[in-house]
Amino acid sequence: MIKITLPDGSVREYEKGTNAYQIALSISEGLARNVLAAEVDGEIWDSSRPIEKDASVKLLTWNDDNGKSTFWHSSAHLLAEALEILYPRTKFGIGPAIETGFYYDVDFGDREFSSDDFKKIEDKMLELAKTKEVFERKAVSKSDALSYFTDKGDEYKLDLIKDLEDGKITFYTQGSFTDLCRGPHIPHTGFIKAVKLTNVAGAYWRGDESRKQLTRIYGVTYPKQSELTEYLQRIEEAKKRDHRKLGKELELFTFSERVGLGLPLWLPKGTALRERLVNFLQKAQQKAGYDQVITPHIGHKNLYITSGHYDKYGADSFQPIRTPQEGEEFFLKPMNCPHHCEIYKSKPRSYKDLPVRLAEFGTVYRYEQSGELHGLTRVRGFTQDDAHLFCRPDQVKEEFKKVIDLVLYVFKALGFDDYIAQVSLRDPENKTKYIGSDENWALAEAAIVEAAAEKGLPTVVETGEAAFYGPKLDFMVKDALGRKWQLGTIQVDYNLPERFELEYTGSDNQKHRPVMIHRAPFGSLERFVAVLIEHCGGNFPLWLTPEQFTILPISEKFEEYGKKVLDSLNNSDIRGLIDLRDEKIGRKIRDAEMKKIPYMLIIGEKEMQDGMVSVRKHGEGDKGSMTIEEFNEFLLNEIKIK
Ligand SMILES: [Zn+2]
Ligand SMILES: [Zn+2]
Repeated sequence: MIKITLPDGSVREYEKGTNAYQIALSISEGLARNVLAAEVDGEIWDSSRPIEKDASVKLLTWNDDNGKSTFWHSSAHLLAEALEILYPRTKFGIGPAIETGFYYDVDFGDREFSSDDFKKIEDKMLELAKTKEVFERKAVSKSDALSYFTDKGDEYKLDLIKDLEDGKITFYTQGSFTDLCRGPHIPHTGFIKAVKLTNVAGAYWRGDESRKQLTRIYGVTYPKQSELTEYLQRIEEAKKRDHRKLGKELELFTFSERVGLGLPLWLPKGTALRERLVNFLQKAQQKAGYDQVITPHIGHKNLYITSGHYDKYGADSFQPIRTPQEGEEFFLKPMNCPHHCEIYKSKPRSYKDLPVRLAEFGTVYRYEQSGELHGLTRVRGFTQDDAHLFCRPDQVKEEFKKVIDLVLYVFKALGFDDYIAQVSLRDPENKTKYIGSDENWALAEAAIVEAAAEKGLPTVVETGEAAFYGPKLDFMVKDALGRKWQLGTIQVDYNLPERFELEYTGSDNQKHRPVMIHRAPFGSLERFVAVLIEHCGGNFPLWLTPEQFTILPISEKFEEYGKKVLDSLNNSDIRGLIDLRDEKIGRKIRDAEMKKIPYMLIIGEKEMQDGMVSVRKHGEGDKGSMTIEEFNEFLLNEIKIK
């Protein structure tokens, strides 16, 4: 008998050689029907593979990321099988699962291939899926593997086998198709109920430009047709919400090749929005005891030698700026921390002064290859909502809790309500990889875990994911389309205080090193605004949106009254415009809807006589009449961050 430990900690006994499917069956038939694969002692296995010794087993279904990726990787095999049937003599490269779906790189020889061929392939895949072909695993010797693919004439597989160790090579066969693969796979193709090929692109074999360009076919599959339909709807919605498209339509930002790739230009409306975000956070930070600082956009080479950034990134970053006479070298600032360390050092600190919290909306520059740039999410110059907290080791937990409060306040104000905290700890098996004493690590890790628990955060702990210089907590946020973004990082750092020889005088009158915490609730303003645009589809929270209302006079006759309304409404807390174009009211309303202006105030004869406005809400329609004072009060109440 062997002992199987399940994720809930329960231990069950089974015959030696039991597989994950049988374990599932012993729990419930429903579960067994849904098991795609299993995690056995941390490795993903076929659910049919015999387990020969005591092990921890997690059964994987569609609801597990590893279950999904097994499903999608298996779908790549199904795609290959369909291709081999439809286009004999196709040669195959690799076919992995990706974040959503899978691809296969194939060589069609001289055959032309385009997305027009997708339908035929999808139909073939579904036809094969219906026959529930079992994925069969077979261990093969290296010489047998080589001879199989030599006979088949597939040089790509031969190239892959060359690098594999004899005795560790496996083939998988489903139906008429055999592939070189480590596995694992789902039990049979019948699980695949919906298929969509999504894209075709060129890809060099092994990513090497000097080698042959293969055809990469992307696809996605689901266990239910309804899930595929939903996925395709989400893709459509994502296209509509693309921040590059909305940024242009809403006149928030632009790019100019003449200015330089990856260097955003904020337009007036975008700048105003960004300023509101900055003010919002500054206010919250002031309350939380932060001090605002300003540091230059460049720093001397020696600063980055001290911080270690020069050694690590110097060669790959923007190159130095040299002074013509003195031979000094400066670098564009890639991060604000080294500058802030020098501010900390500008005077002696006592234990009573700590924590010192230095905040800066610091613009930094990082070289990214032009092909990597993407709207506001990957840029070469961006502004971090940065702060560095210098504290005593015993203050780490309290500081973490305060930063968590701040991040949650930001999320709430901006409508992000689906998030988890990911806590990254060091690998206890490999302590030499990390700097800082065991005692401090234990203290900081416990502080983070406890802070997250005390704040009631849904948390996942990732052991071994900490940076070499300290543990951290990241907020992983799901947007309205279910996509995950990393926003808000809190990072402990033992490295920079050491390198900059930061000190404070303790109550024992001795010198001690402070702990440094880096934190940025938004991350960068650029990336955050991009995520926010896509999350809210350009319908920003009312307090943040560029124009909260627009006044729409029905004709020229009501312009004077309209201007009067605008004057009495426009003040420091609310803002709006008046549309004085010589257009029909229907057109004005349509345009205001397009611009996603939350409230439209329509003004005609009756409104002017009664001193009222007719209120229309974006996407909702008529809200009835209000006096100017009533609307003012109504709006002020609406913009409050509740
Ligand atoms: Zn495979
Ligand atoms: Zn930092």
